[in-house]
Amino acid sequence: SKERGRNTFHFYEHGITERAMRRLQLESRLRRAFDDRTLQVHYQPLVRLDTGHICGAEALLRWNDPEAGAIPPDHFIALAEDTGLIVPIGEWVVGEACEALKRWETEILLPADFALHVNLSGKQLLQKDLPTRLSDAFTRAGVSPARVVLELTESSIMESEATGVAVMTALREFGVEIAIDDFGTGHSSLSRLKLLPISELKIDRSFIRDIAVDSDDAAIVQAILALSAKLGLGVIAEGVEHAEQEAFLMQHGCLRAQGYRYARPMPEDELIRLLVDAPSL
Ligand code: C2E
Ligand code: CA
Ligand code: CA
Ligand code: CA
Repeated sequence: SKERGRNTFHFYEHGITERAMRRLQLESRLRRAFDDRTLQVHYQPLVRLDTGHICGAEALLRWNDPEAGAIPPDHFIALAEDTGLIVPIGEWVVGEACEALKRWETEILLPADFALHVNLSGKQLLQKDLPTRLSDAFTRAGVSPARVVLELTESSIMESEATGVAVMTALREFGVEIAIDDFGTGHSSLSRLKLLPISELKIDRSFIRDIAVDSDDAAIVQAILALSAKLGLGVIAEGVEHAEQEAFLMQHGCLRAQGYRYARPMPEDELIRLLVDAPSL
């Protein structure tokens, strides 16, 4: 049994080393992908439910590794956050997305309410010069900040404390909007929520999944919709896949949605084609 214990220990130790190795490899591959500019930005349409028109798009990072193939963000965003790489990568996404928006504004008659959504990490929110850097990026690309919505998760806002709120306030001051992403999964108190300089909430898709069949989820979504109306905040439902979910949302006053029911994230040229050929989904 002593023998077995030793083997178990060896196996365990080996497991950790292998995991750490794989992480290091992933990190150096991500660094290389960023340096070589092989990361891409895809766009998922946002849809206005009462009219059906595309009222925006969310920029989503894509990594196509020559050997490993497509690596999903859920596998590398956390690593990018731990290593701090998310700061330059996230800023690059903003630049790319703004340049794309500029092209759309030039080539297509965009709906007046069209908004470009970009995800920001809590790490970026801790950078005191973030407002200046982003405002410079908008100016360089020639886009109006009023067309841009920055998405921050509830937990990243809560973790960033005073610096985060000051940075968010400065961002709002030059005209950009801020949405709380994955709303409902964090634990922001309602009193705190009232004090945050935010413009809208994105209801996490975990609540949307079963709204048509689970009365608890239905109640939570209704409460979020009532809350956003009371606080004068916009609201978007994420992860809408079925007609029943859409019907529930419309019936309860949620007018904007995003999900596979309408469109998946896609490269820029496909979005342009969609905006031109099928502006209503
Ligand atoms: P997120 O911000 O909540 O983005 C929405 C995610 O839901 C996307 O996953 C999208 O592809 C997926 N999705 C959209 N509609 C549906 C649906 O109907 N059903 C289901 N099951 N999923 C749907 P994706 O692209 O894999 O991104 C995952 C997460 O990675 C994002 O979640 C975001 O937190 C993070 N991420 C992606 N790009 C960036 C970025 O540029 N910066 C930062 N900081 N994070 C990013
Ligand atoms: Ca998001
Ligand atoms: Ca989300
Ligand atoms: Ca999410």
